[in-house]
Amino acid sequence: MRDLIVAGNWKMNGSQQFVDEMLSALNQVDFSESIKAVVFPPSVYLYEAIQQAKTVKVGAQNFFHEKSGAYTGELSASMLSDVGCEYVILGHSERRAIFCEDDNLVAKKVVATLGSRLTPILCVGETLEDREGGGYSDVIATQVKAGLSLLSADQISNVVIAYEPVWAIGTGKTASPLQAQEVHKLIRDLVTELAGKEVSVNMSVLYGGSVNAANAQELFSQPDIDGGLVGGASLKVDEFLAICSAAAEVLKR
Ligand code: PEP
Repeated sequence: MRDLIVAGNWKMNGSQQFVDEMLSALNQVDFSESIKAVVFPPSVYLYEAIQQAKTVKVGAQNFFHEKSGAYTGELSASMLSDVGCEYVILGHSERRAIFCEDDNLVAKKVVATLGSRLTPILCVGETLEDREGGGYSDVIATQVKAGLSLLSADQISNVVIAYEPVWAIGTGKTASPLQAQEVHKLIRDLVTELAGKEVSVNMSVLYGGSVNAANAQELFSQPDIDGGLVGGASLKVDEFLAICSAAAEVLKR
């Protein structure tokens, strides 16, 4: 049985006050028999968020794959584990596009989570050009295979994948439930090829791209969509809580 996860990526947004507001609201919700909710604050707020979080998990938005050393400005997997992070987002399209992270670097980061307590959320997704040109399946296959390329079949079972079409991120355009389901099925089939059926049926595959309270339930009801990676809507307390409730409703069915 795979987890249904609602992950809130705050990106470079928020403040100490927002950490307090979001965590105190989430702490009122009992997620114990339900979905997993995870928040991803900017790194300076991680420790504080972890101290406050009672019902949700906390994750980091990025890290560097080396264990330690002269890498000014970077954080390692063991440092994040040390303060209590449980997830890390890797290969986000903003990291790929703005910070020039390629598939090789993403693969090194994914493998560097092994031995830490971090679950990597490997993000993949096509651009508008790839979608309109019809080559999106190849793009997704390349990113999934590359991102998992340094892992054994057994190690792949620790990974969560997020399908995030670049054209839907922060644009207000959402992939239709059928468009998203098609790619999620493709991802699950690829994982079956790489790691076997048992790993693929147990892997959570999240959808990301303008998820909000109005569209979450329909998206998360698709057979291969196991929750969402939420950007903009995770910065509004009520909206994020409503997305978590929508996910919890899907689980009850
Ligand atoms: C994201 O950044 O991962 C994301 C999905 O953003 P948004 O929900 O704002 O589209």
